[in-house]
Amino acid sequence: MGAQNARPGMNVIDSNLIKEMTSPIPQGGYVYIFKSPARKLVKIGKATDVNLRQKQIQTGCQLAYFDQVEVGSVHVKHPDRVAKLVHLELENFRARMICQYHEHEATREAVEQEHKEWFDVSEIVALESVLLWSDFVDQAYTSEGALTENWARMLTLLPNPTSAEIDSLEKGLKSLEAGDAIEVKIHHELRALRYRSWIKGQIWTSSRQAQSGTKGP
Ligand SMILES: [Zn+2]
Repeated sequence: MGAQNARPGMNVIDSNLIKEMTSPIPQGGYVYIFKSPARKLVKIGKATDVNLRQKQIQTGCQLAYFDQVEVGSVHVKHPDRVAKLVHLELENFRARMICQYHEHEATREAVEQEHKEWFDVSEIVALESVLLWSDFVDQAYTSEGALTENWARMLTLLPNPTSAEIDSLEKGLKSLEAGDAIEVKIHHELRALRYRSWIKGQIWTSSRQAQSGTKGP
């Protein structure tokens, strides 16, 4: 279509290269939470520029009743890992979101596509999960991105879910279809408490080790 007329000249390419080289290389990125109040769903994803990502979704997707608001975003060192852990934690609450007129990246044509980063949880649950796993990733990996030995050991000590937590998931998933979110809320609270206390226990242990290790020669 108009793509051939839009080819940039050499000067434009050079100045774009210089502009790119001048800007600082992004360190880390964001995990964001968007909410569709009409659908009562949240989208949790990663981006280096949250505003740009929001605009991309608004212009590139034509979701029916897609009234999107930004709930929050958290800057993290390893956005891919944090977003992935959040998605895994909330796996039972994934929602089907069909985009009827998704703009195909290459052809620019509208195609139907399912988007997978949508969840049937409250924005508070989403934000708590992002903060939890962001704390975990900050502590558990070296600057090269490898899991520390300490945390490799800690993974074997993750407490099992209590029977109350397991019950609340079963009841919650049943009641969710009926539009009652109380059991789901209880479930998320119990699970967050278990993960939180496990990670906090580790903070306490590692700071004690750090203190005893800095007594000097
Ligand atoms: Zn789309």
